[in-house]
Amino acid sequence: MKIINNISNMHDYIDKIKRNKKNIIGFIPTMGALHDGHLSLIHTAAKDCNKIIVSIFVNPIQFGPGEDYNKYPRDIKKDTKLLCSIKKVNCVFIPDVNEMYPPDYATYVQLENEMPKVLCGISRPTHFKGVTTVVCKLLNIVKPDKLYLGQKDMQQAIILKKMIKDLNYKIDVIICPIIREKDGLAMSSRNIYLTPDERNIAPILRKALQIGESMIELGEKDPQVIIKEIKRKIKETDAIIDYVEIVDPETLLKKERISGKVLIAAAIFVGNTRLIDNTIVETKDVH
Ligand code: AMP
Repeated sequence: MKIINNISNMHDYIDKIKRNKKNIIGFIPTMGALHDGHLSLIHTAAKDCNKIIVSIFVNPIQFGPGEDYNKYPRDIKKDTKLLCSIKKVNCVFIPDVNEMYPPDYATYVQLENEMPKVLCGISRPTHFKGVTTVVCKLLNIVKPDKLYLGQKDMQQAIILKKMIKDLNYKIDVIICPIIREKDGLAMSSRNIYLTPDERNIAPILRKALQIGESMIELGEKDPQVIIKEIKRKIKETDAIIDYVEIVDPETLLKKERISGKVLIAAAIFVGNTRLIDNTIVETKDVH
């Protein structure tokens, strides 16, 4: 497994791979502190692609003021050892923050529709501009055929899919299922922030979303009734609700009535840690 830290070396490496037209490059961008959620994306990519590139980059511009950029978990040694051990990754790209964003850096990429403003965008207004900018830069460097993203960050995946379509990148986007701990908590690099007491509370997010799923399966059509019930369940604990919403999984617009495919998405604070989770429910009703 190659470890590349510098953008021009990465360009050279990718140029070399691209010389063989049969190579299919699968790309998995991450912020490191790797867990089984990240690894599941790699295993899925390895089924379709013969060249697997993982990036590790804690992207400063997607963190707002007062967020956890400085304390975000970083363990490059552990991550590279883990990636090496699974024997499926050809190259890990770990760019330097000063090369990605030199002092005169000036270019940003952002969606001008509602997508980055809703759900997580309400409490994190600059977050998705940081995500679209860094992924755009990484796609220009890695030039993959296929991009693997997790449903765990569904709003991010939908926004990136839209950016890729709008900017005419010839890249397939594959959204992979959420990998969870045994008690249902979605795996996240941020889960290590949780104290033992908070860790016990955290699975409430998944449990509450499952109540929403069941209500839809039993025929409830009013999103507000479902949202109220999900919130009621979360409020049984000390967790603080950021949002619970039911939206269209393509457009992220609020659903007035449950029909077709719906995305139930939520964010809560457990102590100081913000957790997100979501579920997609498909109903037979198409109107
Ligand atoms: P991150 O390192 O948190 O930026 O995540 C890198 C990629 O891994 C993103 O596409 C995430 O959606 C995905 N990911 C993170 N956690 C999970 C999980 N529990 N299950 C599936 N994918 C995940």
